[in-house]
Amino acid sequence: MKINSVTAVYPNYKHTAPSWRTHLWQIVVRVETDTGQTGWGYGGGGKAAIEIVNGHFSEILVGRSVNSLSDISDIWDILYTASIPYGRKGIAIMALSGVDLALYDALGKAEVKPVAKLLDQSNKKRMRCYATGPDTNWYAELGYTAQKMPHRWTGDESIGSAVAVAEKTRAAFGPNAEVMFDVYMSWDSEATLKMNDALKHVDIHWFEDVLTPDDLRDLGNLRRKIRPVNMAGGEHEFTAHGFADIARNQAYDIWQPDITWCGGITAGLRIVEMAKAAKVEVVPHRGAEPWGLHLIAASDCEDFAEFLPGVRGAGRDDLWLGAPEPVNGYIEIGGEPGFGVKPNEDLL
Ligand SMILES: [Mg+2]
Repeated sequence: MKINSVTAVYPNYKHTAPSWRTHLWQIVVRVETDTGQTGWGYGGGGKAAIEIVNGHFSEILVGRSVNSLSDISDIWDILYTASIPYGRKGIAIMALSGVDLALYDALGKAEVKPVAKLLDQSNKKRMRCYATGPDTNWYAELGYTAQKMPHRWTGDESIGSAVAVAEKTRAAFGPNAEVMFDVYMSWDSEATLKMNDALKHVDIHWFEDVLTPDDLRDLGNLRRKIRPVNMAGGEHEFTAHGFADIARNQAYDIWQPDITWCGGITAGLRIVEMAKAAKVEVVPHRGAEPWGLHLIAASDCEDFAEFLPGVRGAGRDDLWLGAPEPVNGYIEIGGEPGFGVKPNEDLL
């Protein structure tokens, strides 16, 4: 089949957090083919990414053939190379992710297979989830067996608050649960070592994003000092080229590419291969969303999918209709072709 058109839109979100996400949150990419398939993709980069997809990428894509995974991989390389002058990381790759995922969705529909089955005939069907957020009691009631808490360093007094929430989570979830911290680049090396000491008795599974993605050498040094706690990160890194830097610096035990930002399934597969060679684990960022989930189901990622339930009673934008939700802490992949979802037109 050939690509007839590629268009991207920025949804009318009502519930984005006030931050860069207000302006540069996720985009929806639509690919139409000459055989009647509509492929839907999800990328990042907001209105800036819309400009890249509808302008430069669309010019390159219309008229190209997509009949196999290797065709999608070739198209990825063409778009990556064409966007090098302004791309390589960040918004251009977030835009490329949306296109890559839309092509996977279209190919899955053409072959009447879920994306996971396109990748691997014997894909996993059911995956364990962890809940990211602060609402420990609610997540425990919902049946999760793992929680990742947000934490921000505000000085030594924030050690006590971290210990209190970690102890509360350990008590609510029990001795076999996984308890993690995502500190969103707010700690430094000294803070990480202090936290590691203060939290030893809670048995933390990983610390995430303790430094910035520009501090890979320091992360590598710190990683060895916090064992057996794992160092996790990678949601702000892009493509296999970026993860090669992570590998060279041995920065993380657990790599967390975001499949809607790092370059889609194509980049995700290359990153998983690289992780195998580096003997580290891959736990995709937001991995319980359909795009990460199909990769987890069909590759050597860990059986551990991130879901963000929010907090009890809060509103949210239900952008993707048909997306599976965790039940009792596990999520099942459906049998529909492609990623099995379509966008809620009310938000487009
Ligand atoms: Mg994170």
